[in-house]
Amino acid sequence: MYCRYREISPVCVGKNRALTPKESTKEHLIPKYLMKDAKFKARWQLTFNASDEPNVDISCYKCNNLKNQMADVPFAWKLQYLNQYGISIKSKRSLTRSLTFDPALQLTHDEKEKVLQCVLRGNFYKINDTDARFEFHHIAVFTRKGCVLEVTQQKRKLPRKLKKAIC
Ligand SMILES: [Zn+2]
Repeated sequence: MYCRYREISPVCVGKNRALTPKESTKEHLIPKYLMKDAKFKARWQLTFNASDEPNVDISCYKCNNLKNQMADVPFAWKLQYLNQYGISIKSKRSLTRSLTFDPALQLTHDEKEKVLQCVLRGNFYKINDTDARFEFHHIAVFTRKGCVLEVTQQKRKLPRKLKKAIC
């Protein structure tokens, strides 16, 4: 058993060897929460369920943890993007050292911490070769060539009942 992400992941415990049973985890290529969403399944014409054969593979616990709630393809894009611009997510410390911020951005220590979390744990959206967006817990981080240019707090969606009352 080999980790699915061994060739691209900076944290893989099984880079050059097979995984022990303790190290291996069941990997959902498209995460379970998305597979529960009927609209998502219909949109991508998926006919299988979350734990069916086409959607499962093996990965090590470290890669699985780093991938978090992402699907395998955007996870691979994220790793590629970070690698391309010399950003290391091997550890939080290496990320702190390697992530650069636009000097015009005046962030507090707490805000910087949130940005680091967002890049480390967040979903990844590739805009083009140089630009990307990371999203995590209502924080969105926009980067160009790996440099943080903009940080925005996304508003929580109003519950439908409340929205009706207001609108
Ligand atoms: Zn791995």
